[in-house]
Amino acid sequence: MRKVSLLLTPIILAVFMLLLSACAGNSSNQPVSPTENGGPDTDTTAVPTEEPTPAPTEVPWKVDENGRRLAGTDSGLTRDGTPKKYFTISFDDGITQDKRIIEIYNKYNFKGTFFINTGLFGENWTWVGQTLGMPSLSHLRWTVDEFKTGIYDGQDVESHTFQHPSLKDYSKNAVINQVEVDITNIYDLTGICPVGMAWPGGDTEYTKTTMEIVRDNTSAKFARATTATNGFKLPKSFLKWQPTCSITENAVLKLAEKFLEKEAESDMLFYVWGHGYELDYYDIWDRLDELIKMMTEAEDVICVTNAEFYWLFCDEIPPIK
Ligand SMILES: [Zn+2]
Repeated sequence: MRKVSLLLTPIILAVFMLLLSACAGNSSNQPVSPTENGGPDTDTTAVPTEEPTPAPTEVPWKVDENGRRLAGTDSGLTRDGTPKKYFTISFDDGITQDKRIIEIYNKYNFKGTFFINTGLFGENWTWVGQTLGMPSLSHLRWTVDEFKTGIYDGQDVESHTFQHPSLKDYSKNAVINQVEVDITNIYDLTGICPVGMAWPGGDTEYTKTTMEIVRDNTSAKFARATTATNGFKLPKSFLKWQPTCSITENAVLKLAEKFLEKEAESDMLFYVWGHGYELDYYDIWDRLDELIKMMTEAEDVICVTNAEFYWLFCDEIPPIK
């Protein structure tokens, strides 16, 4: 027994000396991270350490000459010179179905664009359902009080003009008023200034002159049109921004698959537009859900609002071609 303990004594001493020197090596008052300290886990095999997550940095908004925050400027999105695939979607008129649309978006942490008319709050367009042979179909705009409850918070709210008129026969001043009053109202209600619009009534309701009036006299920098391109090329001009297709087209999900399969050899855009009432009329809510799921889950697709897309490409795409 005695022999054994004599043998052990130098070993215990050596271990003690080792421990002492390890402590001395850290004699300063530097904080020690749990991994440096070893912690309770004595396994010293290399464990891949995770990169620390950087604290989210607030991206400052761009403001206009009146100090108004401009829609789409706080995304932090930039271009790195390599071709990318972008997806965007918008719904017109500011109607009550938009709430259900946003519930779908929220499931996927997605942001969309909504074009609204602040001169028509609370309007009930029963003629839409009657025209379509479905009198029960609702086309009801939010009242201003409902709007103020924050239905569109976090979404991109853009102009659809003040009262949704056919602009093609309007005087210059009337066109300017329809656009600017709506933009100002949306800013006053949301604190964020719209940077674009959708032509009310679509492609038959404006002219080249109307486009020039908007370009030269209003703060709208883009205006969405309605003729489907069925393609993924970038718009030729921002004031006649033609979408890929409408949500009502049966081929939407086929187009989505095609978009996902394609390699981006140059920048590509998949743009879907529509109205909330069409989702009821055609019973295509599942289609919208599937579309947003596909786009948000695709690793090589950048989901943007209309305003965010505008800022990414405003140096490249002219207002009018
Ligand atoms: Zn409309």
